[in-house]
Amino acid sequence: MLKLNDVHTYYGNIHALKGISIEVTEGEVISLIGANGAGKSTTLMTTSGVVPAKRGTVEFNGEDITHKAPDDIVKMGICQVPEGRRIFPYLTVAENLDMGAFLRDDKEGIKQDLDYVYGLFPILANRRNQTGGTLSGGEQQMLAISRALMSRPKVLLLDEPSLGLAPIIIRQIFDIIRKINEEHKTTIFIVEQNANLALKAAHRGYVMENGAITMTDTGENLLANEDVKKAYLGM
Ligand code: ATP
Repeated sequence: MLKLNDVHTYYGNIHALKGISIEVTEGEVISLIGANGAGKSTTLMTTSGVVPAKRGTVEFNGEDITHKAPDDIVKMGICQVPEGRRIFPYLTVAENLDMGAFLRDDKEGIKQDLDYVYGLFPILANRRNQTGGTLSGGEQQMLAISRALMSRPKVLLLDEPSLGLAPIIIRQIFDIIRKINEEHKTTIFIVEQNANLALKAAHRGYVMENGAITMTDTGENLLANEDVKKAYLGM
């Protein structure tokens, strides 16, 4: 469904992605793990067209999207939840969710999806009239994921969903990520420093070091891999 072929991305002279290839099949949860600065966020930004690849290609359902504008990529069904959430702090929860559906005009479908996200995260339903900026970090992450779901994406790109959150909230969010994949059939691509939870939630994983992919396997096999254990799981 989504294919990065030998992608090179630069920030000026900084060669951030050094020829990476990643494939995401429809219906999969894929996790990309790696240390700080490895190039995980850049991989998502290159996929969503925010920082386009200089060489190599990004394909979505067989179409070359490497040089498409980010808003066109969103319209095709690839929606990114950026690191640090970036919800609209002065809009209410309900208004933030409306913004997620701004490209749609199927009222019935929007209503169904709204009921669905409020069912996933009942706390958001309770706080629907509260402004986004007054929510806790965990609630903001839930809102950011829900807002993305309101665009009914085919692929959801999640950048560090665990960032700055308490362990119990992180577990809850990862459980829901898996639930969204199972119930809504959404394909999900996660980049994450919390390797343990990210690999547990994923069908397959990729390990990234210094802008290159160094390993790929099922989530289960990567969790059992001695090198991964030492470098990313603190074992
Ligand atoms: P983190 O988990 O800390 O977000 P990451 O694996 O997501 O790390 P990236 O943010 O993709 O890594 O960064 C990859 C490399 O590109 C790093 O060396 C980083 O310093 C550099 N980089 C990222 N953003 C920019 C930018 N806007 N301008 C210049 N260099 C950048």
